[in-house]
Amino acid sequence: MTTERGSLPPELYPWQQEQWLQVNLMMEQKRLPHALIIGGVPGLGKLIFAKRLAATLLCQQTIRGDACGQCKSCQLLASSSHPDFKLMQPDETGKAILVDQVRKIQSAMATTAQQGGARVVIINGATDLNLNAANALLKQLEEPGDNSFFLLLHQWPTHILPTVRSRCQLLDINKPTQEVALAWLQERLANTMAQEGLDTAVKLLQMAKGGPLKALELYETKAHEQRHQVLVQLTAILRGKQTSVEVAQNWHKLPLEQVFTWWIEWLNDLVKLKMTGDAAQLSNLDIIKLLQAVAQRSDIEDIYHLLEKVTVQLNYINQRRNLNPQLVCEELLNSWYLLVKSGRSQ
Ligand SMILES: [Zn+2]
Repeated sequence: MTTERGSLPPELYPWQQEQWLQVNLMMEQKRLPHALIIGGVPGLGKLIFAKRLAATLLCQQTIRGDACGQCKSCQLLASSSHPDFKLMQPDETGKAILVDQVRKIQSAMATTAQQGGARVVIINGATDLNLNAANALLKQLEEPGDNSFFLLLHQWPTHILPTVRSRCQLLDINKPTQEVALAWLQERLANTMAQEGLDTAVKLLQMAKGGPLKALELYETKAHEQRHQVLVQLTAILRGKQTSVEVAQNWHKLPLEQVFTWWIEWLNDLVKLKMTGDAAQLSNLDIIKLLQAVAQRSDIEDIYHLLEKVTVQLNYINQRRNLNPQLVCEELLNSWYLLVKSGRSQ
């Protein structure tokens, strides 16, 4: 983490400046709340923002409202050994934050700050707290202690337990405008994406719901190509050019969690189309023709039914419940095939 900027955490992103000024002002006026929920869609760099805020709160000689990068505190933080800073997150992606993790933090926070300044806890994934963990945290939020700060990060602040939420102040990191996001993304991808250009960047950003870092991740994991592949296969099934069994064999090799998440989005768009007919409300405007063609030839009950089945299977995957992917995909794809009542010729 040591750069020409000393021991500072990484730079803020251009779209975070507004909220940075906001917290800066609160710090200056000594009214920064003890518990802050930092919200916003995935891919806005909330953790970077929180780390920067933590560094500033812990810094012993801030410069113009920012961590100095030189003092003992900044150095300890950069070497991940600051005794008054804790980062709490699930041990594994998709797992919950456990009550033991909260308790550990609790006892650390009960003692005086070892560096004599503030104490900061970042909770990365606030809805990942299981109920016991959330209840344990609640006690901490009620009596945070002097100069102690909790920074809770989540993309869905409304999903956080109301009892926890009511003790926190919300700070949303806004999505950058398309122009700012595209400029940032294109700069990162200048070497690799030269041939694919602007169209790909726009599509990635759409898939990422406007979060530039998420868009970059999608590009690096080739998710946009996988999504295209999945769409081609779903279309082939509708046209009778590929069977559910064949496609299921192929889906095997893809991250099913991601595939089902996309599929659920598309089915949701189909429901919207059936109910309102208004294409402007769709989340997946790049595949509007496919969606309209399917919507025209299917019943809303069947779409709902399939949506429900895919959602159940996605939950099973998230809960790490054993499933037979081939059989599950075959069954779901078969329902997809049956969705369209007529006109398989095109
Ligand atoms: Zn410092």
